[in-house]
Amino acid sequence: QTNCTLEQLADALRPLDDFVICGHVSPDGDCLGSQLGLAAALRQLGKRVTCVLVKDEPIEENLLQLLPGAADMVPACEYDGPVGAFVGVDVPTRERIGQAACGILDRAQASFTIDHHAVDERMCKMAYVDPDAASTTLLIWELSGMLSVSRSGDLVTCCYTGLVTDTGRFQYQNTDARCMRLASQMVEEGADPASISRAVFQNRTLASMQLEAQAVSRAEFHEREGFAISYLTLQDFARFGAVKSDAEPVINALRSIAGVNVACMLRQHEDCIRGSLRAKDDTDVSAIARSFGGGGHVAAAGFTMHGSMQEAVDQVRAALQEAVCAR
Ligand code: 5GP
Ligand code: MN
Ligand code: MN
Repeated sequence: QTNCTLEQLADALRPLDDFVICGHVSPDGDCLGSQLGLAAALRQLGKRVTCVLVKDEPIEENLLQLLPGAADMVPACEYDGPVGAFVGVDVPTRERIGQAACGILDRAQASFTIDHHAVDERMCKMAYVDPDAASTTLLIWELSGMLSVSRSGDLVTCCYTGLVTDTGRFQYQNTDARCMRLASQMVEEGADPASISRAVFQNRTLASMQLEAQAVSRAEFHEREGFAISYLTLQDFARFGAVKSDAEPVINALRSIAGVNVACMLRQHEDCIRGSLRAKDDTDVSAIARSFGGGGHVAAAGFTMHGSMQEAVDQVRAALQEAVCAR
């Protein structure tokens, strides 16, 4: 957990060089925005900075187009340069950065975490963790203020993107006065909410919408308990010509349905099944995700499973029934 103030972390970064900034697997808008936003700030201070991808996996097309510097990110397994400082952003644990990035972290002269996930493990020597922050990019924004760099341009686009994605367009329970205040600052300093929202949200592939229609139409609804479960198989992806990231927004459709307080989406990958959980009420879905070896936030969490889709659905149904009974 936190063992320093943001000022102390800023002071510790200033004398260092050769930064490697790392996020988590399946990088989302907050992860990429935090990495690229921090990189933009540090480069203004004359630092050499590399943003690494934990896995050699494609960045979601909309974020790739929108976020300045996204195309220059390097797979962690290919980075063999110096590591004066390792900074993990939007990621709390070694498990979430994978083997290659762990290798980079292990040879770093200094290491830092800037994050908003509440976990007990400490991955880096200096950690600033604020579970009340709606996004990690809010922390990057505050840090950039302390580093006295210009925040207009690339940096503000990255920070606003992370904020609008992690709050689901300022809709989720993490949306609070502080996040609105900082969003307002970002707009004053040049963020363009309409163009960022258009690039991220009004830009769905047809395949993504087809996955959504499929998932909604086959969802099982447990009306009395207030939860819904659905899934997408490799066959669905093939049929619509969809890629992995096309399935990311589908959980939001499921959770937006009236009477659904907790939603679960299971997605088949080549080697595993990925699960996402979202809560609209005060059910702690991170606890459910942890029971499957995953984790996350109270209202948004994820996990990985193995075995058949039918088994996965059965296990999740049992866990949700139990969680609802315990409430
Ligand atoms: P998503 O459903 O978008 O993949 O993940 C929602 C949240 O849960 C993310 O903020 C992420 O931090 C967390 N999360 C997702 N999958 C995992 C996982 O496998 N392990 C852990 N520890 N956290 C996860
Ligand atoms: Mn994230
Ligand atoms: Mn985040």
